[in-house]
Amino acid sequence: MKAIDPLPALDAHAHLDPSESQAALADTGMALAMSLSLDESAAAAARQDDHIAWGVGCHPRKLKAQTAFDPEWFGHLTEQTAIVGEIGLDAGSRVPLELQLRTFRQALEIAARMPRFISIHSYQATRLVLDELRRRPVAVPVLHWWTGTAAETSEAVALGCYFSIHSAVARQTKFRTRVPPERILVESDHGYNDPPEAIPCRIEWVEHLVAQQYRCSRAEIRRMAWQNFAAIIRETGIVHLLPDGISRQVRDIWGA
Ligand SMILES: [Zn+2]
Repeated sequence: MKAIDPLPALDAHAHLDPSESQAALADTGMALAMSLSLDESAAAAARQDDHIAWGVGCHPRKLKAQTAFDPEWFGHLTEQTAIVGEIGLDAGSRVPLELQLRTFRQALEIAARMPRFISIHSYQATRLVLDELRRRPVAVPVLHWWTGTAAETSEAVALGCYFSIHSAVARQTKFRTRVPPERILVESDHGYNDPPEAIPCRIEWVEHLVAQQYRCSRAEIRRMAWQNFAAIIRETGIVHLLPDGISRQVRDIWGA
């Protein structure tokens, strides 16, 4: 018989459809759900899920969302949630880079005033993202699906970044050689068309890959991810903004 993990899976970056019923999203495990646009963020903000923290975001690949980005509305939505994401830069996107930069800078300005868990996309733009984080430091940047060089990875660590590791990059040795274990989280980057109930299984797989890198057990990676998440929540002072199920788990970790 399979041993039951004492801690639930924690997915630090997933995409879930906020128009789904609560029943359809009941089996995702604990998840931080990213939004691609402010419209989606507003729909997500209206939900009450015990185990899903919905983020406010504007994805660098979404032209319509980027064009419609309104910093005031973004700020208003950010007041109500613990999670900012997905935001960032993408040099392979058809969205003009000046527009992406304007949105990203405005989002970072607001996040600098309101500390949050910030999930950042940096596809083909790792250098640019680090430059922006240097210009406008925020608490707490979490680099999602990170593909930077080893040197950039060390630079990101020095800037205070955390890393939510996806299975596609989990085998890269730079995590083991450059990222201390207290800066790691795991993610599925689960898409809207994937079955939500598959998330815990995918998280287990990433944990397994990350455990191989750090030469420890999968259960230790799960505990570490929770401890690191709890540390972020303590640093940003946003436990009251988390849904009940997740905040209970965070308080348990603090108390342990
Ligand atoms: Zn994503």
